[in-house]
Amino acid sequence: MNVLIFGPNGSGKGTQGAIVQKKYNLPHIESGVIFRENIKGGTELGMKAKKFIDSGDLVPDDITIPMILDRLKRDDCKNGWLLDGFPRNLEQAKALNKALDEAGMNLDYVIEIVLDREIAKKRIMGRRLCENDNNHPNNIYIDAIKPEEKDGEFVCRVCGGALSARADDQDETAINKRHDIYYDANNGTLAAVEFFKNLSKENNGSPKVIELDGGPGVKEVSEELMSKIN
Ligand code: AMP
Repeated sequence: MNVLIFGPNGSGKGTQGAIVQKKYNLPHIESGVIFRENIKGGTELGMKAKKFIDSGDLVPDDITIPMILDRLKRDDCKNGWLLDGFPRNLEQAKALNKALDEAGMNLDYVIEIVLDREIAKKRIMGRRLCENDNNHPNNIYIDAIKPEEKDGEFVCRVCGGALSARADDQDETAINKRHDIYYDANNGTLAAVEFFKNLSKENNGSPKVIELDGGPGVKEVSEELMSKIN
């Protein structure tokens, strides 16, 4: 099963993606995570990407597109994948569609989490990353996934691990830039979503598009998602 998941930063896309990934045992391919791992490991790719990520800009397509298309060719993707954070613009959507066509690969589902921009922004600023597993959801502004408190510090609500905030999550200018890209219906991520919706219409509902209201809590959204994905 091959799945794309879309949603603005702060919509719970990563959390819902992790649920789908576990249930269907798919590799969860997150472009942002691949970049952060490369930055941490001091690779050439990481060094090239860092300045764009820190300022909330997209890493240029000539770096990002081949990185993701190569990742999808690895062995662990043979039985399917869940792609998260890519495509982020119309160009990337077209490049992905072309690469899938050429590889004879089918896209089964396109999931879109819809969320108001102001709500998404607040959620981002409350988000915390667990040092042990970045699929452990923690957010100081969302009661359902609020971290535990230990000795006056927040720790991961799942495993008790140390938490940190991403620098680009605390920078309002960077958040606004990321949302400008997401909510841009001409060339940005909403244009990529529209591209796949049109493809679905032209193709008798394939890929299947699942639109979700990202407003309710994690559990409600995932229940709606699960009821639609089978
Ligand atoms: P994320 O973890 O998805 O919020 O991504 C963090 C940052 O990585 C983004 O703000 C971009 O700078 C970069 N990034 C992630 N995915 C892409 C992509 N598909 N195209 C370009 N840049 C990306």
